[in-house]
Amino acid sequence: MPTATSDDAFAEVKAKVDLVKIVQEHVRLTKRNRDLWGLCPFHQEDSPSFKVNPQMQSWYCFGCERSGDVFTFVELIEKTDKRGALQMLAERAGVELKKLSPEQKERSDSRKRMLAMLKLAAQYYEYVLWSTPTGETGRRLLASRQVAEETARAFQLGYAPAGRGFAEYLRAKKRSLADAQEAGLMRRDGTDFFAERLVIPIRDERGQPLAFTARTVRQDEQRKYINSPETPAYIKGRVIFGLDLARDEIARKGHAVLMEGQFDVITAHGAGIKNAVASSGTALTEDQVRLLKRFTDELLLVFDSDRAGRAAAQKAVVLAAAHQMRTRVATIEGAKDPDEFLRAAGAEAPKWWDELAAKAPSGFEFGMEDAAAGLNLSNANHVELAARRLREWIAQFPPVLQEEYRERAKRWMGVSGHLLAAEPDERRGSARPGPQKAANNGLSAPHMGKKMTVGRYLLQLLAVRPAAFERVRTKITPEELDEEDRGIYVRMLETYERGGASGLENELAGYPAEEQDLIRRAWAAPSTSSKTS
Ligand SMILES: [Zn+2]
Repeated sequence: MPTATSDDAFAEVKAKVDLVKIVQEHVRLTKRNRDLWGLCPFHQEDSPSFKVNPQMQSWYCFGCERSGDVFTFVELIEKTDKRGALQMLAERAGVELKKLSPEQKERSDSRKRMLAMLKLAAQYYEYVLWSTPTGETGRRLLASRQVAEETARAFQLGYAPAGRGFAEYLRAKKRSLADAQEAGLMRRDGTDFFAERLVIPIRDERGQPLAFTARTVRQDEQRKYINSPETPAYIKGRVIFGLDLARDEIARKGHAVLMEGQFDVITAHGAGIKNAVASSGTALTEDQVRLLKRFTDELLLVFDSDRAGRAAAQKAVVLAAAHQMRTRVATIEGAKDPDEFLRAAGAEAPKWWDELAAKAPSGFEFGMEDAAAGLNLSNANHVELAARRLREWIAQFPPVLQEEYRERAKRWMGVSGHLLAAEPDERRGSARPGPQKAANNGLSAPHMGKKMTVGRYLLQLLAVRPAAFERVRTKITPEELDEEDRGIYVRMLETYERGGASGLENELAGYPAEEQDLIRRAWAAPSTSSKTS
């Protein structure tokens, strides 16, 4: 039995599929001599220059000069990678790719069950939203946010009723509740994890739901949004929200619009900006950039205009550059996010949007302006500070870009080169803002040593004694914590609510690395780990 990546697997699959049949699903072919000809699906043309050779099972385009075999064709047409093409074709050909070990088989089966369950849940929630009296609350929320039914249905929005609705539905269908619990949909007692919330499926680029984000419909609820836990089916930093709906428009427009929130994207699509996607609750990750790169080489980044948003934009610009993607940055003004901006524009939204996009500077220009924001460049200290910010930022770019960027920054600021020259420890993208001479002018950066905050102490305590959540959660809200502690607090709270006192040990592997680190250190620390009731 061939393994998934061996040459045997490719050969076996190739022997069983016919390139002509695969191509014909996308291109109308006509026979001329021994070859088949059609309009190339990979570039615009009016007369056929795309040739398929059935004997050789190969194809070639005289227009764009792309060529290959059945795997490269599927790779390009499905915008997948070599492995993805192999998998798709193997499925068609009925070739089993790999003799799985019992554990691998179990994991793969459990993932399949989970995906089926998530699909079922999305259908159930959608049904409740539109076809039951209970869904009224959700429908009202959508109306108040000006989300039309057509848009809501495209995103498959739904409503999770209070109580055990989904559990009862599953029982009626004779389906296992355990799968639903494992998928993070349900608590142990069968109550819905997303009860009384509008649910937004997070789907992969093919439209398969992997997880949910759920927004409360209650005014008095402190936690506006809650999210599915990470599961074998869902790794947060690998999904791009809205990509399944946006991929065609991204190809047409030649760029993707990357926003921060799911509602930003939903409102954008409703307003006709159908190439909008979101990184969905995380800072943009390497995996997400790689995924986007399969569909486009250019990103229009739209981040909130606050400090956190601008910092996130700067990081995204660097990350995209590392994958040879161009960026532009649009800054929303007069509104807190694209959702609010587009709703305020009403029927004018497409026009407002075009104007905003038209004046969006390149990612690097944005970074230069941002480095000088709030500073007075006729003051020597300020110039030095701006130069330092830029120097550190530029050092994070791929080396081939750094020289040009330094040159541009020098001209733009009108400063001499030494202020922007890379310091030895900043080369090769490892900028660390170490102690700086220039920092002594009241504008000094916060010192880097992590001090123990009250929030940190609380998190360590809760890591060691999760049962303390019983008291803590009624006394404080996540908003009261420092921003950097909030995410992990909410995650730990959700884990506790799902899995009780032992939940953290079971779910820790799904936490971001730095949070795992913090929790493991708390467990290891002798001072706090002494077991008292
Ligand atoms: Zn072509």
